[in-house]
Amino acid sequence: MIAVSLLSSYDYCPRKLFLEHVLKLAVVPREAVVKGSVRHAVHERASKAEAELVKSIKNEINHVELIEKYKKLHSDVLKDTIVRNKSKLAEVKVSLTELFKEAWPRVLQESQQKALNLHEFMKKNKVFGEELWKMLSPKIESEYYVESEDLMLKGVIDQLEVYDNKLVKEVVPYELKTGSAPKTGVWPGHKLQAGAYIMLLEKNRFFVREAFVKYLDINEARHVMMNPFLEKHVLQTRDSIIELFQGKDLPLICDNKKKCSSCSLKEQCWNEKFIKEKMVFLS
Ligand code: SF4
Repeated sequence: MIAVSLLSSYDYCPRKLFLEHVLKLAVVPREAVVKGSVRHAVHERASKAEAELVKSIKNEINHVELIEKYKKLHSDVLKDTIVRNKSKLAEVKVSLTELFKEAWPRVLQESQQKALNLHEFMKKNKVFGEELWKMLSPKIESEYYVESEDLMLKGVIDQLEVYDNKLVKEVVPYELKTGSAPKTGVWPGHKLQAGAYIMLLEKNRFFVREAFVKYLDINEARHVMMNPFLEKHVLQTRDSIIELFQGKDLPLICDNKKKCSSCSLKEQCWNEKFIKEKMVFLS
């Protein structure tokens, strides 16, 4: 089975995917990648920790108190995640304090938004503690694993909003991304990933209301619409990856020099002699 994340990697550069997965060249982590993985982990851990916070609310509280609770939770998660990743951050020479300062404004914005949403829900439904958590809808599932033998695809959805609906399991998948966002819409590789998750969820009998790619650096969720072209593109890309992994053909250097200039495998990729030697072992 092909991992959904590889669809996006293939779309970025088939040659890079070949170098990493067929020639097994190790990718040296870059600062942006390491920071991105920390931001990702903060998001996941904060979502998981939210259940305890919600269950701990036993009486009506005002929105200012609720914001403080969320702020504390998110600040603790951010600090702890940064500390847990200190050796990775040291490798790319990122200071722990600087990273906290850089990430905090966006994390804070999310704390405020979550607190206000929960406050609205409590005011409307007048429920607290365990009952509040049970009734709260949508619930967020982090790192949701999904696969389909029919589609020959598998993947882990960053966040799944699950709506409380007794007749049908209704969900909205979110793919979280760090780094720059396009002016409008989503990057093509991200669209492929979101499309593949919709197909996988539908195969698993979910009703998928819609899908989003959330660009964490600008705190914006961009909509992805499923259509027959996207479905075809997902399947074609999957087949191209299967072919790439089975074959011995090295894809050409991509024609986007911007991609190459920021690529962590550039040195090896552009070194013809080195690549030729590596290819010999495949034949
Ligand atoms: S240097 Fe360019 S062609 Fe080579 S793997 Fe990186 S992005 Fe692809």
